[in-house]
Amino acid sequence: MAAVGGPTRQARGVSMSVSMSLVQGGAAGAAGPQGAILAAAAPYYQPPAVPQDVQPDRPIGYGAFGVVWAVTDPRDGRRVALKKLPNVFQSLVSSKRVFRELKMLCFFKHDNVLSALDILQPPHLDFFQEIYVITELLQSDLHKIIVSPQHLSADHIKVFLYQILRGLKYLHSARILHRDIKPGNLLVNSNCVLKICDFGLARVEEPDQSKHMTQEVVTQYYRAPEILMGARHYSAAVDVWSVGCIFGELLGRRILFQAQSPVQQLELITELLGTPTLEDMRHACEGARTHMLRRAPKPPSLSALYTLSTHATHEAVHLLCQMLVFDPDKRISVIDALAHPYVDEGRLRYHSCMCKCCYTPSAGMRQYAAEFEPSAPQPFDDLWERKLTSVQQVKEEMHKFIAEQLQTNRVPLCINPQSAAFKSFASFPPEKTREEKKQDFLDFLKKQPPYVLEERKEQIKRMLERF
Ligand SMILES: [Zn+2]
Repeated sequence: MAAVGGPTRQARGVSMSVSMSLVQGGAAGAAGPQGAILAAAAPYYQPPAVPQDVQPDRPIGYGAFGVVWAVTDPRDGRRVALKKLPNVFQSLVSSKRVFRELKMLCFFKHDNVLSALDILQPPHLDFFQEIYVITELLQSDLHKIIVSPQHLSADHIKVFLYQILRGLKYLHSARILHRDIKPGNLLVNSNCVLKICDFGLARVEEPDQSKHMTQEVVTQYYRAPEILMGARHYSAAVDVWSVGCIFGELLGRRILFQAQSPVQQLELITELLGTPTLEDMRHACEGARTHMLRRAPKPPSLSALYTLSTHATHEAVHLLCQMLVFDPDKRISVIDALAHPYVDEGRLRYHSCMCKCCYTPSAGMRQYAAEFEPSAPQPFDDLWERKLTSVQQVKEEMHKFIAEQLQTNRVPLCINPQSAAFKSFASFPPEKTREEKKQDFLDFLKKQPPYVLEERKEQIKRMLERF
């Protein structure tokens, strides 16, 4: 049965629900098995009778790193999300990034983190160009909910924040930094269960402080001050900053720091937090520090957070202020945030009727899990990445990895070549020309603060020469 959510189809026993309009985009492609994108790969496989009300495949999201469709699994009629990871083998950097994302999706086992349900059977190595991953389909995301007219109660905010922190604790315990936590990357189903998604920018924490990390991270509104100030090394605290921004956005129902440029972004942050001390800016690059010191000092105005909404109680603001701390080393950790009293009600709500880790026997008291916020059993390993030195090598390793994942009892899935919907799916996004890629890079540079450009002059020059 198609798992389409909406206000009328909530699981029994769940007392709170956010009614959500289904994802954007009109119906595309023909309905029915001929038009469907997915097919079972085994020739002898007889698909079950397809219900009459099967929904057409349709696009539900486009990101920088792929396109996602809502499709039907022909093996059981279940609605799932199909993500295409495009242009996988364009360069060593992009192929390693995709391999990392794929391995992460297969590694995750946590209710608040999106994971791979399946991978489509790849063609022979010689024809292996694209990768398709199947994940659970959730009907909405926090961005759509925040901008919708849907009422958000204090309980909604608490249960959302709890789940974000719960998922993030798991990721950080696996030593993974998400690096692009924003409302659009927090999927939500009709029962308010939330899952962190899009690991296109995620990577393993770099313990070596002298190693430089990329600045091409985190959507500007949710970007931590140390990144805005050109810090060359940053930690899991960047994700906590983003969560703080989202918490503020849930309370106020508008983006907390909505600036036009990174310099203005920093300006808005200092208007709220006050001018940072030199000590607070020790991770910043020299140019950014000078820029900040040239400006008239500003006093903090944190009491403004109380005006966000009536939900901005003393407890809420107390926690929010510990997330929105300029110095990443003084910012609260996810584990400490989970111990804050504001989170208690969200935890109670989640484990009394929404989670999969606790249960209620037919007659009796609710049986609670031993660990409410489980960590990953082991860190995510990225040593394999260092051994990969050519695109061909990544390709072979990835092909092998996918084959290993498919060794289950289930009939593997593949793309239905007759599908009309697939043609539009497969052609997106069109491969970029060298000129377009250069333009993208120039646009990226335009969005960087001048002091960061000044610091990276030589590096940028070398990168431009490559186009
Ligand atoms: Zn539970």
